[in-house]
Amino acid sequence: MQIDLHTHTTCSDGADSPTELVGEALAAGIDVLGLSDHDTLAGWAEAAEAVAGTGMAVIPAIELSCQVLEPGSGVLPRSVHLLGYLPDPQHAGLKEQTAKIRSHRDHRLQLMVEKLRVDFDITWEEVSAHIPQGATAGRPHIAHILIEKGYFPDTSAAFAGPLRADGPYHVPHYAPRLAEGIRILSEAGAVPILAHPYTGGRSGAIDHQLDAAEILGGYRALAEQGLAGLEIHHRENTQEGKEVLGLVAKELNFIVTGSSDFHGSKKPNALGENTTTEEEFHRILAAATGSEPLR
Ligand code: AMP
Ligand code: ZN
Repeated sequence: MQIDLHTHTTCSDGADSPTELVGEALAAGIDVLGLSDHDTLAGWAEAAEAVAGTGMAVIPAIELSCQVLEPGSGVLPRSVHLLGYLPDPQHAGLKEQTAKIRSHRDHRLQLMVEKLRVDFDITWEEVSAHIPQGATAGRPHIAHILIEKGYFPDTSAAFAGPLRADGPYHVPHYAPRLAEGIRILSEAGAVPILAHPYTGGRSGAIDHQLDAAEILGGYRALAEQGLAGLEIHHRENTQEGKEVLGLVAKELNFIVTGSSDFHGSKKPNALGENTTTEEEFHRILAAATGSEPLR
């Protein structure tokens, strides 16, 4: 079984519609596909229609934007992504929170364009025209216009340039604290799993410069808040990170997932490049109470 539990569509910053994504996943031999757009469940209905009768299963999910504050220091909040598998789409708290994040993301992207306009030929009209109605707005939508205008060859180059989080054009957006994100997803019946927890260059939820006991303590605290697992098999986790996270997962009995984080042509990630074992997938199914797989 090929199980790829983290993908994006045009409902957030992916390049393909839910229907196109399902078609590509079938062509790639995927059996179970997690649909996890940023801060929205908008793609579920179309994916349900597209997957019906194909033999593949779509796991309705979300990638919730959260933030972590460095304890005791004045540094900017760090953005952390929390995957939630099989939430109840009618859960009031989740609906309210995702609407708030999306609204702040819209406003924040406009502010970023205002800053960029000083040095680049770009307008909010151009950027917003390219964001599908209701989609979660993100920096990749600005990248698209900068690429179209020949400033950068691809999204990664734009992110290494003016779109980087520590650059002069960046504007942060509202997101709930990680503990609150875990609580909301748990209350919505979802299984909360930390996305790509150990990426090179930037710390995730836990400061990985700490010693092993402190790192374990940090993850233990998240487990006590309801965190159920770690996305270890992901191209952005460093090799050293995967080893550290593997030990943490074993110690804390975390569910371990793997996925592509597919964004269509907007990122080099290929469907099925990392996968989740059947055993770990069944742990997610057993723990989720909010919704059912789409078949
Ligand atoms: P934002 O949601 O506006 O903070 O933008 C972050 C999103 O942009 C991430 O969730 C990724 O989907 C995407 N992203 C981040 N870094 C890169 C990169 N280097 N290349 C392509 N996409 C990226
Ligand atoms: Zn993602």
